[in-house]
Amino acid sequence: MQVPFLDLKVQYRQIEAELKPVLEDIMAAGAFIGGPPVADFEKEFAAFCGVKHCVGLSSGTDALRLALMAAGVGSGDEVITVPHTFIATTEAITQAGASPVFVDIDPATGCIDVRQIPSRITSRARAIVPVHLYGQTADMDPILEIARKHGLVVVEDACQAHGATYKGRPAGSMGLAGCFSFYPGKNLGAFGDAGAVVTDDEKLAQTIRMLREHGQSRKYVHDMEGYTGRLDAIQAAVLRLKLKRLAAWNRDRRANAARYTKLLSDVPGVTAIKEADFAQSVYHLYVILVDDRDGLQAFLTEQGVGTGLHYPLPLHLQKAYAAMGFKKGDFPASERTADRLISLPMYAELTHEQIEHVVTCIKKYFNDSRPKGNDAQRS
Ligand SMILES: *Cc1c(COP(=O)(O)O)cnc(C)c1O
Repeated sequence: MQVPFLDLKVQYRQIEAELKPVLEDIMAAGAFIGGPPVADFEKEFAAFCGVKHCVGLSSGTDALRLALMAAGVGSGDEVITVPHTFIATTEAITQAGASPVFVDIDPATGCIDVRQIPSRITSRARAIVPVHLYGQTADMDPILEIARKHGLVVVEDACQAHGATYKGRPAGSMGLAGCFSFYPGKNLGAFGDAGAVVTDDEKLAQTIRMLREHGQSRKYVHDMEGYTGRLDAIQAAVLRLKLKRLAAWNRDRRANAARYTKLLSDVPGVTAIKEADFAQSVYHLYVILVDDRDGLQAFLTEQGVGTGLHYPLPLHLQKAYAAMGFKKGDFPASERTADRLISLPMYAELTHEQIEHVVTCIKKYFNDSRPKGNDAQRS
């Protein structure tokens, strides 16, 4: 049995018939930039996130970068985030002109350890970017409280958390701004690169609208320099159709995750990333932690089971950030997680049989790679 890590083809078949005439209309009209598909998607995605405004952009990285810039974060400022995330989080911070300040993660959830934030706040601190990793929100109440106390802006990296909630509140709706990626493999994915910022702040939304279009306030009137950062009409049309199905797809992902969790609960040596009491995860990824990660990954590949590593080297140890002067041991929870994590196949259309096959393979690997009757393995 083959179990791909992700299967976008089976998702496409569900929307194909409805989508083709919509794309045909856009192409026939030759209206590729802006227009009704973009405006309609922005309205619908803002409603989905429970906020007033959505600005469609060309990627999640742009969403983070433009949200930070529009919030006034820039040169000389420090922005608190985690080293256990995709590099886009910190690229956005440095490209806005600021410096990332790392705080380690809570290894149980993979998200920022809120207890460690206060000790990292200096007089230059300007913002916190919590990352809602793997589809689960960070612990937002303490983050918002710390931010309020220190006068910091909160920009949520919700690029993996479309539809996730924190104590019932939608991801992206709690900070000044929420940033989303619609990279094809995300829970809500376009047919290429796309992203968005959601916010209740009208002025912030307006500034981001200008930044995405060369700083224009009106055509060829530039109040500042900006970027080519727009969401395309074709991508917006794809996203509109998929958005209607997102809640159902997220429900299916949660059911698949529950099945994995149940089947893996009695496998010694396997720890799943935990869904916190405060969170309802949308399981962008289903991640487990094991000691012999590389061995397990090689075995699963042999068995036809696709896996991923999100992410195998924390940002503070990346060559790109060598100048920051970090070394191994500086963020132990992030490092230990990076060494032990493996992402199992996860998407809405995964079947029971496929999930059972993945778990059977994992059990087989651990049984075969360990001496029989070894009591010490029971803990
Ligand atoms: C995908 C992702 C991004 C960046 O999104 P792009 O659309 O690829 O630019 C940022 N942060 C996290 C956590 C992501 O997973």
